[in-house]
Amino acid sequence: MHKNTTLAIFGGNASFSQPINVGQLYFPEWQRYENAMRGIFERKYYNNNGPLLSEFEQQLAQFFGVKHAICVHNATFGLMMLVEAMGLKGKVIVPAFTFIATVQALAWAKLTPVFCDVDPLTHQLDLVKVRQLVDGEVSAVMGVNLWGGACQPEQLESLCNEYGIKLLFDSAHATGCEVNGKMLGGFGSAEVFSFHATKMLSTTEGGCITTNDDKLAGLLETMRPSYGKTQTVDVVKVINARMSEAQAAIGLLNLADFEKNRQHNEEIYHTYVKGLHGVPGIEIVQPSVVSRSNYQYMVLKLSAEQFGMTRDQLQHVLVAENVNVRRYFYPGVHRTIEFEPVFATQKNALTHTDELCRSCMQLPVGANVDILIAEKICALIASIQQQAKIITEQLHK
Ligand SMILES: *Cc1c(COP(=O)(O)O)cnc(C)c1O
Repeated sequence: MHKNTTLAIFGGNASFSQPINVGQLYFPEWQRYENAMRGIFERKYYNNNGPLLSEFEQQLAQFFGVKHAICVHNATFGLMMLVEAMGLKGKVIVPAFTFIATVQALAWAKLTPVFCDVDPLTHQLDLVKVRQLVDGEVSAVMGVNLWGGACQPEQLESLCNEYGIKLLFDSAHATGCEVNGKMLGGFGSAEVFSFHATKMLSTTEGGCITTNDDKLAGLLETMRPSYGKTQTVDVVKVINARMSEAQAAIGLLNLADFEKNRQHNEEIYHTYVKGLHGVPGIEIVQPSVVSRSNYQYMVLKLSAEQFGMTRDQLQHVLVAENVNVRRYFYPGVHRTIEFEPVFATQKNALTHTDELCRSCMQLPVGANVDILIAEKICALIASIQQQAKIITEQLHK
């Protein structure tokens, strides 16, 4: 279909007239939003542990199958609060193949990240390597459940129990994912979810901490803080990381739509799998370990040799076509200005992490992508692959 049309990098028209972005961006129906906002106006209550927030937290606890779901202003605040509330000390083992906020939360609490490599196929923490990194100064492991998959949370629990260290999860990618039929949210001491606009369940900006530990929940609620809750406990630090009624209103509506949105994502995912089948050099990342995924990400790994051009070259060509694919994660956290110095003091190689940072690419998914768009993107990628030689020659001129 695109074979005889000129690519946009060579002066042709872009395949799409509007940019097709990555990110979920699910919006509830306007009428329902208007009703919810009218309620906020009538009650004249914007913030501070309001009725919508309470309702949202109750529904979330049920959804995640946990005793406590504590909503916060975003997942980054949630992670910062959690490492503080858990009283972690010294070093924490964490993957470098993650969004930088995972590790920044540790830095804010003056903890030292110990970067651990990931599995080249699943992209999740490599548990054999985690074990090798445990020493007397390590107080915890922070697992990251990536790409709508999971990092073997049950096995990580056993491992941490064995060494008497703590376990927490950045589950920003994993809202609504299940492992052996059990919803993520109840593993380790606690898990943190992101409700950012680009994630599966949006409150525009937001997140929540899930836990079955009453004491930890009390600490977190006091730190947040939670006006009107009768029980407050002694905490070292307080941070304004509340979720407002307006955020909770959107969250409630999107939670009601969750399964519908998840199914849409699943359909798009399978459309990509089918459309890219047989294109040389493309390996689609499957959500690992989970018995049910939210399909929040569509990630592919590119073999430059087989495809005929590098990941960065392909990105360049696709962006010109208005397909705003992203390099994710790039650079690896251990290669950022902030964390390069600490990584330099560590001897462990992050061979697979480095390789994935060079070769992974995220394709558009979510509300703004339908089956026709996904099919068109697949055809475009296949056609680019067929012209790879000519394109790279031109790019080098
Ligand atoms: C999005 C994301 C975060 C941060 O979430 P915010 O709600 O934007 O703070 C943290 N970790 C990972 C892996 C993420 O993808």
